[in-house]
Amino acid sequence: MNAINEQTGVGDNTLLLPLAGKKGLITGIANDKSIAYAVARAVRALGADIALTYQNEKTAKYTQPLAEALGARLFEKLDVAQPGSLEGVIEKCGAEFGQIDFAIHSMAFCEADDLHGRVIDTSESGFDSAMNISCHSFLRMAKALEPLMTEGGSLITMSYLGAERVVRNYGVMGIIKAALESAVRYMAYDLGPKGIRVFAVSPGPIMTRAASGIANFNKLLEADAVKAPLGHTVTIEEVGALTAFLCTSGSSGMTGQTIYVDAGAHIVA
Ligand code: NAD
Repeated sequence: MNAINEQTGVGDNTLLLPLAGKKGLITGIANDKSIAYAVARAVRALGADIALTYQNEKTAKYTQPLAEALGARLFEKLDVAQPGSLEGVIEKCGAEFGQIDFAIHSMAFCEADDLHGRVIDTSESGFDSAMNISCHSFLRMAKALEPLMTEGGSLITMSYLGAERVVRNYGVMGIIKAALESAVRYMAYDLGPKGIRVFAVSPGPIMTRAASGIANFNKLLEADAVKAPLGHTVTIEEVGALTAFLCTSGSSGMTGQTIYVDAGAHIVA
């Protein structure tokens, strides 16, 4: 009999699961619609132990029950815009787990005024803060985790097609996601000798809290469903499943890539 706990997805055959004994840090859960939440569920279902973060007290209200249901070993406040916050959380991960095998960077932010205008109108301070929170924090995360990733592992961030092509209303975030995808390649090159693999997962549009800040997002969803060869947009569960796979040894021959999970929409002009 292999009983599966419905909330955590963890069964009693945990030693056979691909992430049994692996430990990971997952950032970016705002609520149960967040991509990071589906990633957390997927890696728990594969047997991993996890640390989760929440951005502030407002989001803690929604994320605390999720962290408890998932059996997260740590639940820490993380605001990557605050100096030392990220490094402090990673220090706690080191104290709790000793070693880290994977980390998920699922955070992005851009001031509404900068997101909604033309890219040439972006303010310097708005560009700096969007780049810091959405891109540079991934580099800082890798630096702080490197000493804990003694057995190698996977570092994964979330990108979007707007990095590569102009997507209406995505504006300056497209420039920042392009930098993020480039960072993934350079990080993969730097960290490859340590067995640390680095990926950008690029989901198609999904209605989440972050996505609701993009103008006419519903139209983008509708258009993508029509364009995608599979005839639908993706779910957070589909993104979670791919991301969890990238944390397993099944992806040991891969690094540095941007991997689309968008029902094939990116291949269609
Ligand atoms: P979400 O709103 O659920 O998650 C965004 C997260 O970023 C939130 O948890 C928020 O707290 C966190 N965040 C923002 N600023 C932060 C800061 N200063 N410190 C710490 N955390 C901060 O939305 P989501 O769609 O799940 O977004 C997750 C990632 O997926 C983002 O990088 C987003 O760009 C990317 N993505 C989303 C879509 C989509 O259509 N939803 C598509 C492709 C890529």
